[in-house]
Amino acid sequence: MHFKFNVDLKPRHRQLLAIIKGHWVVLLQAGICMLVMAAGEAATAWLMKPAVDDVIINRDQTMLKLIPIVILVVYSIKGTAMYLQGYLMNRVGRSIIRQFRDSLYDHIHDLPLSFFHSAKTGALMSRIINDVNIIKSMVSTAVTGALRDACSVLALTVTTFMLDWKMASFTFLVLPAAFYPLHEFGRRIRKISTRGQEAMAELSNFLHETFAGAKIIKAFGMETYEKKRFFQKTKNLYKIEMKEVKVDELSSPVMELIGGIGIAVGIYYGGYRIFHDTLSPGTFFAFISATVMLYRPVRKLSKLNLNIQRGLAATDRIYDILEQKSEIVEKDQPVEIPAGPHRVVFENVCFQYDSNDADDTMVLNQVSFKANPGEVVALVGMSGGGKTTLVNLLPRFYDATSGSIRIDGIDIRDAAIASLRRQIAVVTQEPILFNETVYENIAYGNRGAPRELIENAAKDAYAYDFIKGFPKAFETTIGELGSRLSGGEKQRICIARALLKDAPILILDEATSALDTEAEIVVQKALENLMKGRTTFVIAHRLSTITHAHRILVLVKGRIVEEGTHEELLARDGAYRKLYHMQFGNS
Ligand code: ADP
Ligand code: MG
Repeated sequence: MHFKFNVDLKPRHRQLLAIIKGHWVVLLQAGICMLVMAAGEAATAWLMKPAVDDVIINRDQTMLKLIPIVILVVYSIKGTAMYLQGYLMNRVGRSIIRQFRDSLYDHIHDLPLSFFHSAKTGALMSRIINDVNIIKSMVSTAVTGALRDACSVLALTVTTFMLDWKMASFTFLVLPAAFYPLHEFGRRIRKISTRGQEAMAELSNFLHETFAGAKIIKAFGMETYEKKRFFQKTKNLYKIEMKEVKVDELSSPVMELIGGIGIAVGIYYGGYRIFHDTLSPGTFFAFISATVMLYRPVRKLSKLNLNIQRGLAATDRIYDILEQKSEIVEKDQPVEIPAGPHRVVFENVCFQYDSNDADDTMVLNQVSFKANPGEVVALVGMSGGGKTTLVNLLPRFYDATSGSIRIDGIDIRDAAIASLRRQIAVVTQEPILFNETVYENIAYGNRGAPRELIENAAKDAYAYDFIKGFPKAFETTIGELGSRLSGGEKQRICIARALLKDAPILILDEATSALDTEAEIVVQKALENLMKGRTTFVIAHRLSTITHAHRILVLVKGRIVEEGTHEELLARDGAYRKLYHMQFGNS
C-alpha cells in the first residue's frame, strides 16, 4: 500500500514552510528546550530502574536519599524547559498569524474596487480572523508537537531499546498498523475543516449583513425570519463541527488501542522473561514506565497530523486571496501627473464590467468628450445609464475596455496611480466617515495639514458651526455622535474632507441626491465653494443643480446622445428636454 502521508507540498505550502523557516532562530531555541524536556522525561523513566532495583530490592540507603534529589532536579529543569518552549513556540505561532493578517490586509487593499464588489465583507473578515487562527494552531501545536513529541518518542524509544531491545522489538511490532488510520483521519479532517471554514465565513457574512441592515429588518418585521435563518446556519456549522469532532476524538482511542496491543505484547514477553529469571524486575518496571510515557506524545503526534491538515486547508483559503492579482497595474516607468488645473479627454471609451465575457453588455459605448481646465461637466440621464461607471474610470477604479482617457495628454494607464488619484477628489451619494474624530475625518487625505486649514475647510463646507456644537467639537469621534449626525451634516464633513484634499479634479456623484431640499441648499452652497477652479464632473439627479454647468452630457444606455449647455439642450427638444420636463412639468 502507498502512504503519501500527506506531504504533497504545493507551492503555497512551500511558502508557508518558508515563512515558518524564517523563524528558525526561535524555533531552534524552542527545539533545544524540547530536547531538554525529552531528556528529562527519559531520565525520569530511567530512574525507575535504580528506584526499584537499588532502593526497594537491595535496600540501598544512599540511593534512597539520592534518587528523590535527582528527581527534583530533573523536574525543575524539565519545568523550566517546558515553560520556555511554550513561550517561544507561541511567539513563533503568533508572529506568523500576525504576518498573515498583515499581508492579507495589505494585499486586499491593493486589489481593485471590483474585488470589493464581488467579495462579501463578512466572509473576508472571517478569513482574516478565523482562517488565520487555524494556521496558528497548526504552527504552534504542529511545529511544537512535531519537535517536542517526536523528541520524546525518540528518547523514550531509545530508552526502551537500551533497557531491553528484545522486549522493545515486541512492543513496537504493532507500529506499522498505526499508519493507515493516521492517514485516513488526516484526509477526512482536511475535507471537513474546509467546509467548516466556509460555514464560518458564511456565518460571519450573515452577521455583518443583518446587523448592518437592522433597520430594514425591523421595518419589515423580519426578525423571526432572520433569527430562523441564523439558527439554521449555526445548526449547519454545528453539524460540520460534530463531524470533525467524531474524527478528532476517534483518532486518540484508535491510536491508544494500537498502543495497548503493543504494551500487552511487551508485558507478556517481559513477564515471561522474569519468570525465567532473564530480566530484572527493575528493568521490566522501567520499561513499562517508558512505554506508558510514550502514550502521551504518540497520541499527540496523531492529533498533530489532524492539525496540520486543518492548517493546510486554511492556508489554501488564505492563498486564494493572496494570489489574486490586481487588473489595475502600474507601468514600469509610470508618469507623475503634475498638480494644477487639468484638461480631461475621453476618447472612444468603451467599457464592460466583465471583459472576459464577450456577451457582456457594453456599459459605456464610444464615449468621447473633453473637459477643459476649471470647467464643470454635468452627466445626466436615467438611472443605469452608466454615469457612475464613467466617472469611476477616471481614478482607475476600473480600466476602460477600449479607448483612452487622458489628463493633460497623459494616458491615465501610463500614470503613477498614486499621482493620478492625488488629482481627484470624490464626493459620493452615501457619505462615508470613519470612526475617528471629526478632525481626523476631515484631514483624511492630508493628514499633516495645519489646524487652520482644517477649520477653514469646515467653514467653506458650511460645517464649522454644527461641528462646534458637538460635545468635543472637532475632537468628537463619529461613533460618539451615533445617529445624531444627519445626512446633510455628514455630507458637509465629506465636502470639507474633499476641500482639504484640494485636488484639481472633482467628482460629485449624486452628492445631494440623498438629501431633502433644505439640506440640499446648504450642501449645494458648500459644493459651489468646492468646485471653484476645479475641473468638475457632476452627476446630479435634480437637473436644477446643474443648469450652470459649462457642458451637459446626456448619457443613455452608455452613449452620449446629447451635449451642450442647459439653454442649448432645452432649445433642441431632445432627450434633455424630455428629462427636464419630467422633473418640472411643462411649465
Ligand atoms: P448610473 O450611475 O447612470 O445609474 P451605473 O454606471 O451605476 O449607472 O450603471 C450602469 C450599468 O452598469 C447598469 O446597467 C448597472 O447594472 C451596471 N453595473 C453597475 N455596476 C456594476 C458592477 N459592479 N458590475 C456589473 N455591472 C454593473
Ligand atoms: Mg450612479
